[in-house]
Amino acid sequence: MRALAKAITGLELPAVEKISNEQAEDPFQILIATLLSARTQDATTHAASTRLFRAARTPRTMARLTVKQIERLIYPVSFYRTKARHVQACCEMLVSRFNGRVPRTMEELVMLPGVGRKTANLVLILGFGSPDNICVDTHVHRISNRLGWVATASPDATEQALYRATSRRWWPSINLYLVTWGQNVCRPVYPRCGDCVIRRECPRIGVRRSSR
Ligand code: SF4
Repeated sequence: MRALAKAITGLELPAVEKISNEQAEDPFQILIATLLSARTQDATTHAASTRLFRAARTPRTMARLTVKQIERLIYPVSFYRTKARHVQACCEMLVSRFNGRVPRTMEELVMLPGVGRKTANLVLILGFGSPDNICVDTHVHRISNRLGWVATASPDATEQALYRATSRRWWPSINLYLVTWGQNVCRPVYPRCGDCVIRRECPRIGVRRSSR
């Protein structure tokens, strides 16, 4: 993790990290940007989030937008129709049930439409500074398995296994480090093992072909 911390310096940050830095770690904007980010390129997520937040910056103002308006603002993120419905329903629930605030617990966060453990963990880490969570997306799941830290079949199983396999001090950083590494070096296909700073420690489990 120390080697990765050094190696990611200067690389492009993941979209939600960027939004978190730009928006003073506002939990609401982190929540919405994470909802938009699923299966979408970072540049597209960042541009769509910026357009949406320009139109509405709070749960109350965003809940007043129609699903069609949200669709138009977030297009072309993938599954933009479903995501627009989730964003609108999520904002309505934040207003009706949580007094217009993003809740601070996993149990409450996963009640929100479209919000699973990945999104909830990222909101808790980036929005509320929680030291107790690990956010596992597809990059974290893939790289943790390649490194042999875990041997799991799903991101949820990886999250639970990582709590056991890693030191608590790294938990909030695992997502940032591994997502950045996954987007730049340990890519899904043809990982750049020859350029990888942790190749000596990595058993490269499941990697059939790599490139420089
Ligand atoms: S050595 Fe290859 S498989 Fe292992 S972390 Fe680096 S890029 Fe990924």
